[in-house]
Amino acid sequence: MRFVIDQKRCEGHGLCSAAAPDDIALDDDDRPYLLRDEVPAGTEDAAVSAARVCPVSAISLTD
Ligand code: SF4
Repeated sequence: MRFVIDQKRCEGHGLCSAAAPDDIALDDDDRPYLLRDEVPAGTEDAAVSAARVCPVSAISLTD
């Protein structure tokens, strides 16, 4: 499973990083970036939460 972040849609709310802090961090401008390429097995719940919590649906997950 992998994250895809639509940076054009993102408004920098930071909720994704709070939901999946091992996967997503925020830079100095509150823009999210990925900490790892793949979501490890067993941590999918946090990844799904990060995608769901984004208020502008800027995060999607792929297999
Ligand atoms: S929750 Fe959505 S809008 Fe907020 S930083 Fe993450 S991707 Fe951007």
